[in-house]
Formats: sequence, C-alpha cells, structure tokens
Amino acid sequence: MNFNKNFNDVADSYLFAEVASRVAAFSRTHTDKKIIKLGIGDVTLPLVPEVIKAMHAGVEDMSKQETFKGYGPYEGYAFLRESIQSYYKESGVNLGLSEIFVSDGAKSDLGNILDIFSADNTVLVPDPVYPVYVDTNLMAGRKILFADATEENGFLPMPDYSLDVDLIYICSPNNPTGAAYTKAQLKEWVDFANAKHAVILYDAAYECFVSDGNLARSIFQIEGARTCAIEFCSFSKIAGFTGTRCGYTVVPEELEKDGFNANKAWLRRQSTKFNGVPYIVQKGAAAVFTKQGMREIKQNLAYYMDNAKLIADCMDDLGIWYTGGKNSPYIWLKCPRNMGSWEFFDYLLNNAQVVGTPGAGFGKCGEGYFRLTAFGSREGTEEAVARIKKLLK
Ligand code: PLP
Repeated sequence: MNFNKNFNDVADSYLFAEVASRVAAFSRTHTDKKIIKLGIGDVTLPLVPEVIKAMHAGVEDMSKQETFKGYGPYEGYAFLRESIQSYYKESGVNLGLSEIFVSDGAKSDLGNILDIFSADNTVLVPDPVYPVYVDTNLMAGRKILFADATEENGFLPMPDYSLDVDLIYICSPNNPTGAAYTKAQLKEWVDFANAKHAVILYDAAYECFVSDGNLARSIFQIEGARTCAIEFCSFSKIAGFTGTRCGYTVVPEELEKDGFNANKAWLRRQSTKFNGVPYIVQKGAAAVFTKQGMREIKQNLAYYMDNAKLIADCMDDLGIWYTGGKNSPYIWLKCPRNMGSWEFFDYLLNNAQVVGTPGAGFGKCGEGYFRLTAFGSREGTEEAVARIKKLLK
C-alpha cells in the first residue's frame, strides 16, 4: 500500500486559521473592544421567503406516498435544469438540458472535474487565487504554472502564447481580487484556449454581481467557448446557499478531443461517484429563478452591493488603489504606507478592530494587498468604514 504522496506538496491551510488565531489573541486581551469582521467570504442574509416556501413544499412532497422521492437523476431534476437553462437564456446563452449538471456546490465540482483530465496536463492558475484550484491539482500531481495578476494588469492577467498549457482556470468576477474580465478580454482567452487545444475551467460563482454589460456573466457569452470551456456556478452567493449546498456545472456537447467527449465523461463520472442533490434543496434552488424569487434575491444582492459601495467610496476618499467593489462583493486594496499584507492586518485589527483577509494568503502576487468583503451587516460595514477612515485619513 502507498498513500498519495502528492498530498505532501499541499501547503497546510493556514490563512483563515491564522486570521482566527490572531483575532482570538486580540479579543483575549481587549475584552472591551468590538471587532468587526469583513474577512470571510460567507454570506450573512438568510434564505429569501420564496426559497423557504419551495423547500417547505418539498418537505411536504416527501411526506406523501404519491409525491415521495427516492434517488433522483444524477444530473439533477429537470425542473431545476430547465430553470437554470432559462436563466442563461436571459444572458443570451442557449444551453441544452443535457449540458447542465446540478451539484452540491461549485467547490466539489471544481475538484471533481479533474477526474476527466489526464494527470500529465499542465495547469495555468492565476495568482492570487481561490486556493481550491491549486490544491486539487497538487493532490493529483499536476504541473502548475501561474499567471501573475498585478496592479499593472489590473489583476486581470491575459494569455501568454509562449506557455504551453492544457487547463486554464479563470474566475470572474474574481475571488479574492474582485476584478472582472470584459467580454473582449475573455474572447482573447477563448481564442488562446482553442489555439492551444486547452480547456478553460471557468468559475462563475460571482456572476450575479455583474451589472456592467461589457463584463461577462458566463464564458458561454463568448464566441468559441463551446469548444474549449466548462463553467462552474453556485447558488451560494446569488441566493445564500453556502450552508444549503447547491451549484451547477455546464459541460458543452462540443467539448471533445480524439473521440473523447467531455459531456459524456462527466455524466459517467457523476453517475458513478455522485447520487444527486437532495430534492428539497433542488426545490429551493429552482425558486431562485422564479419571478418572485428573483425579486427577493435582487434585494439581498443590492444590500451586499450597497455595502461594497460604502467600502469602495471609503477607498476613493482615502486615495487607496483597489479593484472590485463594483461588479463584485470583494474589495481588493493596496495596503497603505507600503505595509505588507499581514502587517496591515495587524494594524487594522489593533487600531480599528476591523478584520479583513491578508492578500498574501492567496498567492505571492497578493503580498501588499488586502481583501475586504461586502457580506457583512450594513451597520457593521458602516462602522468599519468610519473606523478605517478615521485611522487612515
Ligand atoms: N468558487 C469561488 C471563487 C468561491 O469563492 C467559492 C466560495 O467562496 C466557491 C467557488 C464555492 O462555491 P460553493 O459554495 O458552491 O461550493
């Protein structure tokens, strides 16, 4: 027996543990101080009434012989896939029902999709980055190259034709930087991927925050993407499903090479290793895309985006450089006075009792930057902004 030694290459998950430990140490010695947390990317508003109503109806269905559900379809119930299909149609994207796979969240699928790719593929990952892309590939022993995201490129790296890569991760709007690609920029990535016979693994978890029509909500808004992209999306951010768990993955029928069809392989993979998302959860997810559900959800999204604007306006006032905040719930700011990420973390915690996330925790290019999130309460965000202004004016 041999264990998978690739796990030795995965760094300990230290970022949020270290944040929590520094906050706990501060709290122990400053029991009178109120700490405001704008660090973790979890949502705070509860599920909207329309979703709750649908989930209650799902529970009722499970209680009656005539409507009880056992194992469901591996790829998700048709009622949910149809509502996802209509949601994409609103952005001008036509998907076949067989191209939509419902899952228990984007994180699982982002990791699981690697089952259909060879271990000798070379992977291109932006830096800084959502750590799942790096860690899942390290576990499989793949070679990883980094596309540096910097102030110079607005934290939106563009293709480099000198690199030979097979899998390309793109997250837009991005976690942690909040930066979002325009459709024109994504067209360059799609052309690059098609030219290199590479596949873009496109993480659209934050598409619901895009309001600017020049920015993409889906990679499939871009001509040519159907032959080179897989898209991952989630109900976590649009509808507060971080604890309820539901997402979906789009694998186009045209994605194939040498007779290997990615859509068929993914269905085979899912039907072998996955038994579907609970019916009750899928009922709730489908309610997200109803007229009333969307009306309610838009209020929640507006609440978060108003928080983002408060933070972004504060950075504008202070003359601090940042990305995000406009089509994204994240504000990625340059640490003032040339402080390092952790130095600024301690400075903000000690002097304003505001907690954010040090950019260095997301990759080497994150050093000197800092992430604040709009997922807090309005009162907390207002208070945090007032404290930051007072401290840095
Ligand atoms: N992708 C990105 C970029 C994220 O930031 C997150 C969660 O924070 C996820 C995926 C995970 O989504 P889910 O809750 O659907 O697993």
